[in-house]
Amino acid sequence: MARIVMKFGGTSVADLDRIRNVAIRVKREVDAGHEVAVVVSAMAGVTNRLVGWCQELSPLYDAREYDAVVATGEQVTAGLLAIALQTIGVDARSWQGWQIPVRTDGQHGTARIAAIEGAELLRRMKIGQIPVMAGFQGLAPDNRITTLGRGGSDTSAVALAASLQADRCDIYTDVDGVYTTDPRIVPRARKLPRITYEEMLELASVGAKVLQTRSVELAMKERVRVQVLSSFSDAPGTLVVDEDEIVEQEIVAGIAYTRDDAKVTVRRVPDKPGIAAAIFGPLAKAGVNVDMIVQNVSADGTTDMTFTCGKSELPRALSVLDNAGKIIGYAEIATDKDVAKISVVGVGMRSHAGVAGTMFQALAERGINIQVISTSEIKVSVLIAAEYTELAVRALHTAYGLDA
Ligand code: ADP
Ligand code: ASP
Ligand code: MG
Repeated sequence: MARIVMKFGGTSVADLDRIRNVAIRVKREVDAGHEVAVVVSAMAGVTNRLVGWCQELSPLYDAREYDAVVATGEQVTAGLLAIALQTIGVDARSWQGWQIPVRTDGQHGTARIAAIEGAELLRRMKIGQIPVMAGFQGLAPDNRITTLGRGGSDTSAVALAASLQADRCDIYTDVDGVYTTDPRIVPRARKLPRITYEEMLELASVGAKVLQTRSVELAMKERVRVQVLSSFSDAPGTLVVDEDEIVEQEIVAGIAYTRDDAKVTVRRVPDKPGIAAAIFGPLAKAGVNVDMIVQNVSADGTTDMTFTCGKSELPRALSVLDNAGKIIGYAEIATDKDVAKISVVGVGMRSHAGVAGTMFQALAERGINIQVISTSEIKVSVLIAAEYTELAVRALHTAYGLDA
């Protein structure tokens, strides 16, 4: 007998038939004698619609009210799954984040889980009642509802697994594992039977949304055994493991992309000490997450500073730069939302040279211009025009010998 947390994503609970299918999967584990807790996302598309409504009313919406709105999607699916389970004879009860409670910090929209008080859930699991927890949501220190950032129910599931000291956290989604790249845009992508925490963390952080970055971070820290599986098939999934559990390590584990970033160029700022601090200090203070940064060399004492941030943070970033305009002293601001960030990730990069070179060559051969580059120990990322996203990912997948 094992203690298992099962998490079902948006596509897996997209309508009543799929919720019935999820209930059957949960029952299967219960019938096998396991202790089970379930975490659900909102129905596919629902969170996007809720976010869209907030943005439409005000691009600079109040993050507390955003959370009050977007957390509702999960409330619906938790209740519906509990009903579906009861209908097939499984004792189940839904739980909202505040009822458990899932305690978070007060960073609305991107809150971090501080603790989950799992004692009551555990007591009920022991007498055969299945808790169905609404993912993505928690409770701030001032008792307001928070959400954990997009894709956050993965993190809810891992945090619950850690709190319940579960043997496994099974993340059920619409693909049957973690692939060398998004199988939806590269049909020749290969499923990885295992991937290291580190590589999964890096891939998630650069756009492979199959797992939320924080869920991997937390799994790594709390030693939670995470498995990615399909809720539509019984194919073996991908296990996230330590590096020494992988026998033959490839140099590049995978390729990720994101179109969620925007590029901002601050033109003709004075090229002098303190200018980066004058730009990025206020942005950080306003909670704008800056990712890639490049500063041009100057010929005439002024320079251009280019950075990327999330598209959804762009209105906030522009308002900050506008307010700090006098102190920074720039000529103009240019923005570009038609960009994509493409990243290659692999722990093998630590010991192998030439990974970046292969990337630049493959992109050059397709005539794809690189706008910004950034690297870490196990990752190289480039910013390109969004229209070349698929072409670039496919070209790199082939260049690194990852095609099935
Ligand atoms: P869920 O709603 O179940 O949380 P997500 O849409 O958040 O599902 O994540 C699953 C999606 O992640 C897949 O449909 C796939 O398109 C995408 N994806 C991106 N990169 C990868 C990858 N390397 N391996 C598998 N899926 C990936
Ligand atoms: N429903 C939330 C989202 O769409 C959380 C999740 O799916 O994990 O971001
Ligand atoms: Mg997800």
